[in-house]
Amino acid sequence: MPLVSMRQLLDEAAKGGYGVGAFNVNNMEQIQAIMEAARETKAPVIIQASRGARAYSQDKYLYHLMLAAAELYPEIPLVMHLDHGNSFETCKSAIDLGFTSVMMDGSLLPDGKTPATFDQNVEVTRAVVEIAHAKGVTVEGEIGVLGGIEDGHGAGGTGLEHVTDPDQAVEFVAKTGVDALAIAIGTSHGAYKFSSKPDGSVLKMDILLAIHKRLPNVHLVMHGSSSVPKDLQDVINQYGGKLKPTWGVPVEEIQLGIRNGVRKINVDTDNRLAITGAIRKVFAEKPEEFDPRSYLKPAREAMKKLVALRMTQFGQAGHGSDYQAIPLAEMAAQYASETVAV
Ligand SMILES: [Zn+2]
Repeated sequence: MPLVSMRQLLDEAAKGGYGVGAFNVNNMEQIQAIMEAARETKAPVIIQASRGARAYSQDKYLYHLMLAAAELYPEIPLVMHLDHGNSFETCKSAIDLGFTSVMMDGSLLPDGKTPATFDQNVEVTRAVVEIAHAKGVTVEGEIGVLGGIEDGHGAGGTGLEHVTDPDQAVEFVAKTGVDALAIAIGTSHGAYKFSSKPDGSVLKMDILLAIHKRLPNVHLVMHGSSSVPKDLQDVINQYGGKLKPTWGVPVEEIQLGIRNGVRKINVDTDNRLAITGAIRKVFAEKPEEFDPRSYLKPAREAMKKLVALRMTQFGQAGHGSDYQAIPLAEMAAQYASETVAV
């Protein structure tokens, strides 16, 4: 299947009442792990690259690896998404390269650190929507600011400083025409999200429910939604790592979100933990090894296992062949004739 728009994938997920994991990649092994998990579970796929990933691996490598994935797994609907675009120019460069979906994170200024005003966010997001929809490309916006910093992007803090205001969310969607909306409900980027198992005082599922009530047809996105499972932390620490105790977003909370409008769930940290644990294990148990394949293969396998588990837990498993790809040109025509709700 050619690369498809994220709007189509999320519309299908809404029809089927399931969520779709969006997994971050920086290299070939991570893409292979996700595609193998998708084939095994028969799931549609969103692969996303941040600005940090694009800088690390170079756009052209990433893009051609994605084309290879689409060619090698023709049965799987596959979205190539830009995670946390910081400016109009970043989003435009991704669209020009061939990404089928972009996030314009106008909740922060282009420095990726300073919270923006509501009007600044609307203005830049609306501008990206215009150029993206003209090409059939999907746009995710963000209202409210997440906690933590990852790849140098983020306002820091606990995630409770700029929780999304439901009324503002309604106004933001109406003024920008975004296809999907990232909301801030107390989650953070990175491994250190919560200092104990989160309850309603730090993970604001009530805000999510309030937003869904006001925007029942908008695809909601949960960022910073790794679960940071203890068994993955333990493998790292057992083989010489020094992770401090930490808690992520429990899968059952994500599933509650999925029952209430969440269609895209961003997961990065869990895969990083799985990869690092597998590599540490090889280094500890077989210090004589020096062929990179001897540790990258188990690392890839560990990530595949985790992605397949999340695909099953989010409900996307089994839905990979429910539909045919709508070409981007057709999506563009639908936006132009407003048959796609914006
Ligand atoms: Zn994020």
